[in-house]
Amino acid sequence: MKELVLATGNAGKLKEMQHILEPLGFEVRPQSDFFQDEAVEDGLSFIENALIKARFASEKTGLPAIADDSGLEVPVLQGQPGIFSARYAEGYKGQSASDALNNEKLLETMQGKTEREACYYCAMVFVEHAKDPTPKIGLGQWCGRLLDAPQGTGGFGYDPLVWFDAFDCTAAELSKEQKNQVSHRAQALQALMAQFNPS
Ligand code: IMP
Repeated sequence: MKELVLATGNAGKLKEMQHILEPLGFEVRPQSDFFQDEAVEDGLSFIENALIKARFASEKTGLPAIADDSGLEVPVLQGQPGIFSARYAEGYKGQSASDALNNEKLLETMQGKTEREACYYCAMVFVEHAKDPTPKIGLGQWCGRLLDAPQGTGGFGYDPLVWFDAFDCTAAELSKEQKNQVSHRAQALQALMAQFNPS
């Protein structure tokens, strides 16, 4: 088995990756097994930030690394919240960003707008080593439409606001299994894995 570090603190993502990568000959380890500090995500795109995180984890551990970066892009808002999705409402109404406050800010910003398309994006990146000049990159996109009030209690982040005609519900009303089959993250992971040959 070849060791590989996953640049995330998310236990769900770790399990999912272990499940998919073990048959390909990789033993997936969380970055918390090796270091605690965080990469400075100062890229302008999901791809750049995922690459920064993967290179950082690889440099810290000397192992191949995988990282992902994701968020919601709203075309009528010139791509906001975009790479700032997690921190979109930081300072809004004098408060720290949270899922609930991010959603409140987005709904307020969208008030009166008829063009309501919104797309989740995910970039998933693999580097063989910290200075790898040919990283493998998988991309996923999942588009829906913003409601004008939250609906549903599942999922996380912007899920209660994003409606999908194909399912006739919001992302927050899909089961975990359904979402994991079609989401931007699932698509990015699939696109990345297609670039590996089973060992
Ligand atoms: P991360 O890349 O997993 O850190 O996600 C960054 C941010 O994008 C999250 O904090 C959410 O605000 C948003 N986001 C990413 N994926 C999803 C999703 O599947 N549902 C809802 N929000 C998401």
